[in-house]
Amino acid sequence: ETIINRIAAGEVIERPASVVKELVENALDAGARRIEVATAGGGLTLIRVIDDGTGIPAEELPLAVARHCTSKLSDDINDIRSLGFRGEALPSIGSVARLALRSRTADADSGAEIVLEGGRAGPVRPVAANRGTTVEVRDLFFATPARLKFMKGTRAEASAITEVVKRIALAFPAVRFTLSGTDRTTLDLPAVPADGEGLRLRLAQILGREFPENALPIEAEREGVALSGYVSIPSFSRGNALHQFAYVNGRPVRDKLIAGAIRGAYMDVLPRDRHAVTALFLSLNPALVDVNVHPAKADVRFRDPGLVRGLIVGAIRQALEAGGI
Ligand code: ADP
Ligand code: MG
Repeated sequence: ETIINRIAAGEVIERPASVVKELVENALDAGARRIEVATAGGGLTLIRVIDDGTGIPAEELPLAVARHCTSKLSDDINDIRSLGFRGEALPSIGSVARLALRSRTADADSGAEIVLEGGRAGPVRPVAANRGTTVEVRDLFFATPARLKFMKGTRAEASAITEVVKRIALAFPAVRFTLSGTDRTTLDLPAVPADGEGLRLRLAQILGREFPENALPIEAEREGVALSGYVSIPSFSRGNALHQFAYVNGRPVRDKLIAGAIRGAYMDVLPRDRHAVTALFLSLNPALVDVNVHPAKADVRFRDPGLVRGLIVGAIRQALEAGGI
């Protein structure tokens, strides 16, 4: 069992930033309005995620850390609306780190905690806790020293964590995110409205005040696929593609097709070594997209890639033209 979890962990948990991604997605699935992330040592020493979501009843704590136990699976695998659905994250993390899961639901008198170490779960113990859930992950990969060797140093791991939090936070403007700790990089993203104006404000929080003022709004729809967001004017381009944010049905993705479409749209106005800054949100019938390609859930496979590519290229070109570019 521990071995299977460690193999799964190798797929889901590549580095500290993957742990942060899984824990923050769990907090969002639990309806949190406020998510605090604290790290030390680039997340290798400590990752703590505190949320004010629904919490987990004490008697369900052992299930939450058991393999393939998820409270989120609906009958229709194509209709996945929550971010998590595999029930793999917590047991995987618990097989390669020391994990403490502390939680209290709204109607419970006190909180409860379960600790998972090297894949073994301890007893559920009562503890004082606020409503919501706190997950503490210490000494990541202590049980798999070979994996530790692949880490890039605490600075690089800390900045990967920052990028992950930014990437998720952009899709949830109404949620307050903080990132703090002994690591240099910190974030404080107060909640803003969950509408187009809120998105502009969150973009300013994440990319700097000048970005949304100079960005072009995107709004397009084709055969049931909707696209919205903002793209930079060519003079706001960057030397890397780090700030090309893309989301499919609210889920952050890193997708070759989307990246290629963006490159294609800017082909005539940007040199090859420059990259547009973009925040693009695609929404479509969940049955027309496969988010199940990789356990890290970053890749997507569209039923009709040509349609999606054409939609993105067309909408960006139109926005550039409307902006006189
Ligand atoms: P998944 O998210 O795929 O269901 P996880 O291993 O990430 O699997 O989490 C297992 C279960 O633990 C979830 O289905 C959920 O019921 C519970 N859980 C985990 N984190 C939280 C949280 N922050 N708040 C409430 N419930 C949580
Ligand atoms: Mg999850």
